[in-house]
Amino acid sequence: MAEKNYDVTEVFGSDVFNEAVMKAKLPKATFKELMKAINGEAELTLPVAEVVASAMKDWAVEKGATHYTHWFQPMTGITAEKHDSFISPVGDGTVIMEFSGKELIKGEPDASSFPSGGIRATFEARGYTAWDPTSYAFIKDNTLYIPTAFFSYSGEALDKKTPLLRSMDAVSKQALRILRLFGNQTAKKVVATVGAEQEYFLIDKKYYDKRKDLIFTGRTLFGAAPAKGQELEDHYFGAIKQRVSDYMKDLDKRLWALGVPSKTKHNEVAPAQHECAPIFESANLAADHNQLTMEMMKKVALEHGLVCLLHEKPFAGINGSGKHDNWAISTDDGQNLLNPGKSPMENAQFLTFLVAIIKAVDEHADLLRLSVATAGNDHRLGANEAPPAVISIFLGEELTEVIEALVAGTTVESKRTKFDIGISVLPKFTKDTTDRNRTSPFAFTGNKFEFRSLGSSLNISGPNIILNTIVADVLEEFADKLEGAEDFQSALHDLLVQTIKEHKRVIFNGNGYDSSWVKEATEVRGLPELKSSADALPHFCDEKNVKLFTKHKIFSEVEVHSRTEILLDNYNKNINIEALTTAEMAKKEILPAVIAYEKDICEALVAKKNAGLGYSVEQSIADKVDSLASSLSAKIGELENVTVKAHGISDVFEASRCYHDEVFASMQSLRAVADELETIVGAKYWPFPTYEDLLFDI
Ligand code: ADP
Ligand code: MG
Repeated sequence: MAEKNYDVTEVFGSDVFNEAVMKAKLPKATFKELMKAINGEAELTLPVAEVVASAMKDWAVEKGATHYTHWFQPMTGITAEKHDSFISPVGDGTVIMEFSGKELIKGEPDASSFPSGGIRATFEARGYTAWDPTSYAFIKDNTLYIPTAFFSYSGEALDKKTPLLRSMDAVSKQALRILRLFGNQTAKKVVATVGAEQEYFLIDKKYYDKRKDLIFTGRTLFGAAPAKGQELEDHYFGAIKQRVSDYMKDLDKRLWALGVPSKTKHNEVAPAQHECAPIFESANLAADHNQLTMEMMKKVALEHGLVCLLHEKPFAGINGSGKHDNWAISTDDGQNLLNPGKSPMENAQFLTFLVAIIKAVDEHADLLRLSVATAGNDHRLGANEAPPAVISIFLGEELTEVIEALVAGTTVESKRTKFDIGISVLPKFTKDTTDRNRTSPFAFTGNKFEFRSLGSSLNISGPNIILNTIVADVLEEFADKLEGAEDFQSALHDLLVQTIKEHKRVIFNGNGYDSSWVKEATEVRGLPELKSSADALPHFCDEKNVKLFTKHKIFSEVEVHSRTEILLDNYNKNINIEALTTAEMAKKEILPAVIAYEKDICEALVAKKNAGLGYSVEQSIADKVDSLASSLSAKIGELENVTVKAHGISDVFEASRCYHDEVFASMQSLRAVADELETIVGAKYWPFPTYEDLLFDI
């Protein structure tokens, strides 16, 4: 039955101190000053902050808030917060609710246990949070949440928002220079826009609670394939089960109240897998909102007796979960720069941005690759359910033709438009509704790029920092060349042709899942393939990359090194937890179950033997189980040994190699034996819920 009396337009953003609320609650002059700060045109002054803080507090208290928190995105984990109440004693045993401008714009959480990769010596453990007025404050759980950036006493970023904002500034600055060359004098800034499509699994909490692997690592470390998987492809876009539908409805309501523009929801490829996608926003808001979305997904699931799994590969043998990062850049007056235009001049501008992106992706494929590298995502990339670990660009047939014709100096006859490509006239073409290609890591989809290699649990700030920075870098190079040109048209033409020639190796419109592509990419085209996180992450601090980041002031050299350490350390810790959990479950749950089963089989065998009956079935089961059980037992020992070894290596780079090459490999080999045992041992003996329970009983 349709639900009545629910007005989305009224609910949307009702818990957000957004522009409309600011306008209504703030004195005109203050509102104006604040908007200037939000648009990056002026610094936020303390007097303005005082007025804003007071209005924000009144609004929040009216809505039931008792506390406020400076909310930030640490380098590991989802988000961090420390709550302070608004109370202020007045001396007669009573309190009033107070919130100052200072408290709004700056916080000082005791942050000594957040990872800093060695930036903060313990004697200077203080970290500061600073209000990011470009992301609205909101109310959740009777608390006013203030989105903030987090940095150290000496100004180094300790979070993901600070470099994201820096990278947005960098791409804005360079894109504006290009726009001016094309005669645009009105745009004040260029905004990176992002829409993140979020995949996830829902399982019943009663099963989740019985699996240590899910509780500790977010994924199943054991599990034989059920009789039915995703082979019938009957789940994708299928009718949504009632329980899941109820969950999705609740989730939407919660997200809408928080101003998250949740738009689409559907079932995904694997059983129990779903997706939710928002309408795109500025990269900064999109990142904050995606973090909130993930948090809400987990929270609302629990209220429905479900658990939302955001791990990249919760189940072996069926698809894992990714997160498509749709990315574009647009002017502050709403012109999407990746939208092919109507006039030749507009198209020349579009082509300039497009070619810059092609060059950026080719030159910095290593950075794009490592920006999505996590222990969880290693299970997906290159495994025929997600793009390979080689980065390439899909442009679609029509656009590729245009690019090729530009280089060849020929005319293109398209299905729809005639392209006349000469020196002085750049091609004219209309928006291409690109053919679908689901196997490319980086696909042009008509007016935006879709970066498809992200894992589902990733904070999208990382890849967007990289995208903004590498594109800014090439735009800067283009602007430097073109600003000094005597004949703009011909200089542009030459620049585009030369750049395409040098970088077209990164364009690939074929099937990215085909193994022949990886061979061609690496052997013929010379594109890098960084297979695992252990291969990819160390490149973060390569000299070329340090230069790039420092040049655009995204990261200082110290920040790059500290981040590389944190990422690798996090990878190592994840594998370590998985290894310990694997060994423990195998030893304390699986082996005892196997032994109990074996004992019963042997007793049955002896009984039959004593009765003078045949016992070949029991004998063959007992033999098989016994041999697998001894193999399992040996593998537990091996895994424990290599885990101790890896844990003992103090250098994170070296340790990551050991975790990848030895610990992870050892876990996989142990799992293979355990999964085979699961297919033999009687169902009632098996110590925890099976894939069938987890995937189909919801
Ligand atoms: P598709 O069907 O090609 O995946 P959708 O319209 O479903 O395209 O969009 C997918 C995601 O891309 C959505 O989150 C959408 O808001 C986002 N998106 C659309 N346009 C842009 C843009 N200009 N910049 C960033 N994201 C965008
Ligand atoms: Mg998509």
